[in-house]
Amino acid sequence: MKISPSYGHNVSGTTLPFIHVTHTSTMKILLIEDEEKLAQALKRGLEFGGYTVDIVPDGKKGLTRASLHRDDYDVVILDLMLPSMDGHEICRQMRAADVTLPILILTARAETDTKVDLLLSGADDYLVKPFSFAELSARLQALLRRPSQNLPEKLTAGDVELDPSTREVRRGDTKLPLTLKEFSLLEYFMRHPNQVVNREDLLNHLWDFNYVGFSNVVDVHVKNLRRKLGGASDEGLLETVRGVGYRLHA
Ligand code: CA
Repeated sequence: MKISPSYGHNVSGTTLPFIHVTHTSTMKILLIEDEEKLAQALKRGLEFGGYTVDIVPDGKKGLTRASLHRDDYDVVILDLMLPSMDGHEICRQMRAADVTLPILILTARAETDTKVDLLLSGADDYLVKPFSFAELSARLQALLRRPSQNLPEKLTAGDVELDPSTREVRRGDTKLPLTLKEFSLLEYFMRHPNQVVNREDLLNHLWDFNYVGFSNVVDVHVKNLRRKLGGASDEGLLETVRGVGYRLHA
């Protein structure tokens, strides 16, 4: 089944090929989407799959909701073309305000440039319309995946501590507001301490897309990670190995 503005919206709760999530608590989704029929169809399908869904049909209102109620949601599904503010800008402003919620973009466009722009503006993943519920479900599960709770192994490098079970990172006493991608990057570096990690490795391990050649995406996320670790000049912890990649000193 395809969900698309041009395909109609005959989503029937009994026939959705939706993969049920196995979380103990209900996952709450903020759906920022202005096409009412599509939004309602998605809401019905997602609720059938066990999620709770709030719809906001406006860009600025969506940004406000995501910023003020960041702790109430587990993921944001964000349409690109919206009244009052587009999805790119919402993404950028959420990240600038240290909202770390995973963001899944819905886009009708498929140009490569747009995909890179989406990642650079802070999105974690995107789906091109029309998409199937199975695809949407798989992407959501990837974004919401929590590490196994019986493996609370903490990683440390200097005064940085990363807890995979809670997805928390601290430097000294300060909790760092990392996005999912920044967290994944840091975890990867911390699992490969004192080794040169090249950009292609990072792209292959941390990005679902076929992004060979888009290593600037990695650089932008590393730059943001550095800033949150304590300043853009923190080369002492995370060294740039010119022309190759990075090395975390532990
Ligand atoms: Ca729209």
